[in-house]
Amino acid sequence: MGLRRNQLLSRRHFCLCCMSSAAFAATGGWLTPRQAFAEARGLVTLIKDSAASSPVTAYKLRGNVTVLEGSGGNIAVLTGPDGKLLVDAGIGVSRPQLTKTLSGLGPDPVAHLINTHWHFDHADGNEWLHSVGAKIIAHENTRKHLSEIQRVEDWDYNFLPSPAGAIPSEILSANRSLKLNGTSIEMKPYKPAHTDGDLSVTFGEADILHAGDTYWNGIYPFIDYSTGGSIDGMIVASDSNLAAATDNTIIIPGHGKPVSNKSELKAFRDMLVDIRDKVAALKKAGRTLEETVAAKPTAAHDAKWGQFVIDPPFFTKLVYEGV
Ligand SMILES: [Zn+2]
Repeated sequence: MGLRRNQLLSRRHFCLCCMSSAAFAATGGWLTPRQAFAEARGLVTLIKDSAASSPVTAYKLRGNVTVLEGSGGNIAVLTGPDGKLLVDAGIGVSRPQLTKTLSGLGPDPVAHLINTHWHFDHADGNEWLHSVGAKIIAHENTRKHLSEIQRVEDWDYNFLPSPAGAIPSEILSANRSLKLNGTSIEMKPYKPAHTDGDLSVTFGEADILHAGDTYWNGIYPFIDYSTGGSIDGMIVASDSNLAAATDNTIIIPGHGKPVSNKSELKAFRDMLVDIRDKVAALKKAGRTLEETVAAKPTAAHDAKWGQFVIDPPFFTKLVYEGV
């Protein structure tokens, strides 16, 4: 566990999505629910403590759009006189770093926040951002998951309902457009993919797509089956991201190197399809999960994609669950 935990802490893209991977690795694969719970609870504290001292790095993209890395998932910021608009809220304890970084991008207050989905590392900052004036917009399923006790089986963990100020007040279940700061903003629900409440956000003039956790740049993704995610949904979402992008589009992933493009996204999609096919063939041939993990169906991709907390055995398990 020590090595794995240090590895976790040495990277800046911590997320709750990753907790059970660490727990999984610690025991060579399998944990009792009680062990997993203890590990998960410990890691929540670790992730929070670590985010509290992690720097936030800003990358200027195009037009008045910037991406911030260092507080959970990658955060997009649109600036201008209508007030800042954020895509995702990061982890609450990063408030001091985020406040400083945001004020460095211009004097206007945060007026809008869009959640790409309900996970902690994307929505934990909702409460403080709402308290400074952000109207929160999300998919109706995101509001539902933030409002209720939410159990995530793969973490054996129950999340408590969010405080009132953190609950999105504007809900969508179909495409929706906004015009703010001279920019056309388009929000589009995916079919269930990483969760059942994923949204993409595009900034039209700047040609930028934030794909939320339907896209992890250069690392195996978490897939949350507890709230409607699936490997096949991830592949469908990847195809829709590819269809929405040109070679000029800047693509922001939920996790991984925050400034990406269509060719990197295509590599992610092709990796998902190849591993899905290999795992499905093994499962169809009657292999158990343990036998499937032992057959190393991800081997061809591990050097490139398996170096982060969703490691090859855990990703194999996530794919096996959905085929
Ligand atoms: Zn997520």
